[in-house]
Amino acid sequence: MRTAIITGVTGQDGTYLAKFLLEKGYKVIGGVRSYGHMNTNNFKYLGIKNQVIMEELDLLDMANVIRIMQKHKPDEIYNLAAQSAVGLSFEQPLGTFSFNTISVNNLLESIRLFNPGAKLYQASSSEMYGRVKSLPITLNTPMHPISPYGVSKMASYFMVTTYRESYGLFACNGVLFNHESFLRGNNYFIKKIIKNAIQIKNKKLTKLIVGNLNVKRDFGYAPKYIEAMWKMLQFNIANDFMVCSGKSILLRDIVEYVFDKLKLNKNLIVENKDYFRPNDIVDIYGDNSKTKDILKWDYDYSFFDVLDILIDEEIRGYPTNFQKN
Ligand code: NDP
Repeated sequence: MRTAIITGVTGQDGTYLAKFLLEKGYKVIGGVRSYGHMNTNNFKYLGIKNQVIMEELDLLDMANVIRIMQKHKPDEIYNLAAQSAVGLSFEQPLGTFSFNTISVNNLLESIRLFNPGAKLYQASSSEMYGRVKSLPITLNTPMHPISPYGVSKMASYFMVTTYRESYGLFACNGVLFNHESFLRGNNYFIKKIIKNAIQIKNKKLTKLIVGNLNVKRDFGYAPKYIEAMWKMLQFNIANDFMVCSGKSILLRDIVEYVFDKLKLNKNLIVENKDYFRPNDIVDIYGDNSKTKDILKWDYDYSFFDVLDILIDEEIRGYPTNFQKN
């Protein structure tokens, strides 16, 4: 039986990945900040509560990381824990940068010293590329991040490549573009739009207030993206891969699609400059051809297919007997 550690296991990707690995017969160890503040709603929703072995893991404390590594001797480590919200990173630049980089350094160094056979997946992000001169983004596109989050992910990306090239670690960066699901945090764009639109439909909200809708993003479906993470660690050579849909969609089109589907009046969509980011990327989409060819990752959803899934799931919501913690 193979053992995998997932940091950030309670988040969107962590939960889908845990379920995926459990179904493949892995022993799954989940890293959480503390048992006391553990949010298990996502686990309950996917029906995997009590199947993952939870460990309190402070990724800023290298001794703690080493102890967990020695205790479980993982074959694979998926590092998903991060302050992952771009907007919040402007409010918490130091916290975001410190956590998102030191955590990765501690993992790399403890693998190098104590468990050099373990394979590491690092959750890198399209936000590293920021302001690009040409599209689609590929792994050769120069990075020019424009948020503290993007800078933190860029620093950890290069730490991963450095350990791979200098010490021969099997360490991979998965450069993921935005991906969504029912488990997405409530403060993220798509989730917020769909939830609020349903509230308007149910007369619990009068209008939808949004930021800049004239930007385009490459969005995909989270349960498919986590398969690519696993495939990276099964490949015979450690490398970096881009995981994206390969197309961008205007945020305005997303909002209007949701409103059309729910038969809502589009006059209720209000753009408010207070919600604009200090600095925003106009258009971004990536090239997933290497990932599809080499890893045999199949992805053929249009983002409207994904929106249909998300809207239907959000309308169904949690099962009636679901008890949130
Ligand atoms: P989520 O925000 O849903 O989950 C992040 C996880 O990290 C949560 O379990 C959270 O725990 C944990 N975490 C946050 N801060 C800390 C901390 N200081 N110490 C320990 N754990 C912490 O993110 P996703 O699942 O969506 O994303 C997974 C990874 O992929 C992240 O690294 C993200 O940056 C990256 N990524 C995501 C993309 C996306 O579109 N979803 C795109 C590109 C990259 P808690 O519940 O306690 O807060």
